[in-house]
Amino acid sequence: MTISSEGTTLDPWYEQYASRTAGLSASEVRALFAVASRPEVVSLAGGMPAVSALPLPVIAASMERVMSTRGPAALQYGSGQGTPELREQILEVMALEGIRAGVDDVVVTTGSQQALDLVAKLFLDPGDVVLAESPSYVGAMGIFRSYQAEVAHIPMDADGMIPTALSERIASLRAAGRSIKMLYLIPNFQNPAGVTLSSERRLAIIDIARSEGILIIEDNPYGLLWFDRPAPAAMRSVEDDGIVYLGSFSKTLAPGFRVGWALAPHGIREKLVLAAEASILSPSSLNQMIISDYLAHADWKGQIDVFRGLYRERRDAMLEALEQHLPDLTWEVPNGGFYVWVGLTEGLDSKAMLPRAVKELVAYTPGTGFYADGQGRQHLRLAFCYPQPAEIREGIRRLATVVRGEQEL
Ligand code: PMP
Repeated sequence: MTISSEGTTLDPWYEQYASRTAGLSASEVRALFAVASRPEVVSLAGGMPAVSALPLPVIAASMERVMSTRGPAALQYGSGQGTPELREQILEVMALEGIRAGVDDVVVTTGSQQALDLVAKLFLDPGDVVLAESPSYVGAMGIFRSYQAEVAHIPMDADGMIPTALSERIASLRAAGRSIKMLYLIPNFQNPAGVTLSSERRLAIIDIARSEGILIIEDNPYGLLWFDRPAPAAMRSVEDDGIVYLGSFSKTLAPGFRVGWALAPHGIREKLVLAAEASILSPSSLNQMIISDYLAHADWKGQIDVFRGLYRERRDAMLEALEQHLPDLTWEVPNGGFYVWVGLTEGLDSKAMLPRAVKELVAYTPGTGFYADGQGRQHLRLAFCYPQPAEIREGIRRLATVVRGEQEL
């Protein structure tokens, strides 16, 4: 019997794991999150959609209709690419963000997380470089790490990734002989920074990627959840050959269905379907059919408006409370999505502070999880999507107590 590197678990198979599993580590803050899920803790940590605002009877009616009218097909294996009916409807969803595509270009996946995993599996060899925003989505970096790729963070400001910084980094990586495989971006209401890539920068970044021959992965789960004005048109609306676009029903409907999609150029799409089939045979027929029925019968656009109103109210509650209780911290106003990225004052450490916050019954996500290179102690991510406005205000009040305590140390 062998003792693992942490020396905490006895695992007789420890020495036989593939070398790529070295990158699979539980998040350091997972244990704290278990504590943070106690009802008395206000959690501003997880990005959980407000599913209780969904019209549950309408969804139940879709489920029943699918079972009573298409039961055997819904319970059968399906196409590895997804049902043609849902792929057709996905085109309508994407048209809201200026994207035009054909029904054959879409691959339905088990959440956009699986789409990203499949894209990474197709392209990444150990040691390859993925360019990403600084900071970037923790779940994407976990995927890149699992294929032993390295993330190179590109600086961003209030308008998203900075194109000149991107060009410079590409040049220095190339000069060092590195193989750059993709540029991963969340252009709208970014997770975790909340910022949106400006239209001009979208075009500039597309130009750079095109001339450098680097594939863009445009990850857009939040684009329709705008508050004050719609997001600029998707990058995929102006460029199709060099972009894999990822979409999801997790935030506009419900994450429990685990249905998302990839829109990819022809060659990549064929490989994606093969990789998806090898991995899961086919996405859930039942869940695809329920979503198709919901999209056909329910006022899904009206429901997105409901979500937008609700999240905007929660964002406003959070920003007002931050202004009131923590005016010396810094943040950009997110114009959509789920997150506020908060900069701490000099000397504070978001990771070290978390246990004290949980003791004060408030939880957040420390910035360190959103960087592959150890940065992030000076930031934390606050999610306003799940708690009610009153809980958000109370959570920020508690956070202010913790911050004041740390500042006095
Ligand atoms: N990309 C980003 C930026 C996300 O924030 C998330 C979910 N938090 C995902 C992808 C994965 O979403 P899905 O539920 O579609 O797998």
